[in-house]
Amino acid sequence: MFVVPLIERKRDGGRLTASEWRTVIREYTAGRMPDYQMAALLMAVFLRGVTDEELGALTDAMRDSGGSLRFGAGTPPRVDKHSTGGVGDKVSLVLAPLVASCGVAVPMLSGRGLGHTGGTLDKLESIPGFRTDLTLEETRRQVERIGCAMVGQTAEIAPADRKLYALRDATGTIEAVPLMAASILSKKLSEGLDGLVLDVKRGSGAFLPGFDDAVALARSMIALGEARGCPTVALFTAMDRPLGRACGNALEVEEAFAALLGEGPPDLMGVVYALGAEMLVLAGTADDTEAARRALEDAIRSGRAADTCRRLIEAQDGNPGIVDDPAPLPQAPAVDVYVAGRDGIVQRVEPRRIGRGIVELGGGRRTMDDRLDPAVGFVITANPGDAVARGEPLASIYASDSAQVAVGRRALDEAIVLGDEAPAEVLPLVSHRVSRAGIEEG
Ligand code: URA
Repeated sequence: MFVVPLIERKRDGGRLTASEWRTVIREYTAGRMPDYQMAALLMAVFLRGVTDEELGALTDAMRDSGGSLRFGAGTPPRVDKHSTGGVGDKVSLVLAPLVASCGVAVPMLSGRGLGHTGGTLDKLESIPGFRTDLTLEETRRQVERIGCAMVGQTAEIAPADRKLYALRDATGTIEAVPLMAASILSKKLSEGLDGLVLDVKRGSGAFLPGFDDAVALARSMIALGEARGCPTVALFTAMDRPLGRACGNALEVEEAFAALLGEGPPDLMGVVYALGAEMLVLAGTADDTEAARRALEDAIRSGRAADTCRRLIEAQDGNPGIVDDPAPLPQAPAVDVYVAGRDGIVQRVEPRRIGRGIVELGGGRRTMDDRLDPAVGFVITANPGDAVARGEPLASIYASDSAQVAVGRRALDEAIVLGDEAPAEVLPLVSHRVSRAGIEEG
């Protein structure tokens, strides 16, 4: 295929036909179109955008680059959630087993870290032995047997997104509405879902921080899902600060286990319950979000959610005992406490700087081939609005050695800002709900 004229056309603001998008995605996935040409096309899309028809064609081509999950008639309703990316966002690790323990199947296909944000796959792979590369058939059987699976894109399922995701990460082409929408929906539409809940992040740590961009992204993904028979709802959640306390792969897994055992931090649980409630309502197992929330809380209280998590880990070759005793998770050799340098009020805990700090510590990728250190990161107990005294601990740094502790300390110096007044604006944890019917607050 001679792809240069297509790149030039998009560069100059023109359109590609559905058949051209199919060809480009097929050739790239098969390794017959080089990364540099795809990178140029992605940048042209980033700068010029695509029409709605092109976005549909691109998403379908990416979905159809691999197979889809197909479930038998007797399988419970299947619903999934996906986040547009955040720091400390371990919601998927809690939600998949939690929602499955309420009788809704969750065949979750996740991604790796992207830019300054963490990825569910990288977090899961910090669990010794845990396999994320299940085949389609293994995934289907596991979902039918225990109600959930947590897997990554493979050569068999969503392979186009697997390659494009890594390429976007390395070429400055993450933060574009159509590229994010096609990436997310192409994965989710191959899961054979009855419903999809999207966690659209807002605030300085989101890929698209502004409200209008969040609305555009949510509307775009809802339109793609609904047009393909998958009822889709989005909640806007705050990413002007990290979610929960732990930021870093293994540290977040440990916090997710604590959440399943009933000891999650309030902000994490707020987002988990809000998204989980939408999932149960979409699945038809709860009449409204209040009833759904009660069911979710009961699943945690009764131990059913943690039990489903143990079964999930065992089914994917990890040791289920790790839920109750996380000691086998990778441990950082150097740990230090970070304290307040003055009395004051926490103005900001800047999530982008925290995310970049994790990359600097080795817990995220700078290039496509980087290997991660799963043990490193931060546990941050300070929240915007907290009054703190000089010398009071605000966070802990987990690093590979003492030189790296200093790298982590620099990141926290820049991320945690103290002042004398209450912070100007802190976003509500869950600010809006968007559906095909429109956008509502709260
Ligand atoms: N998550 C994805 O799966 N893709 C994106 O582009 C951003 C977040």
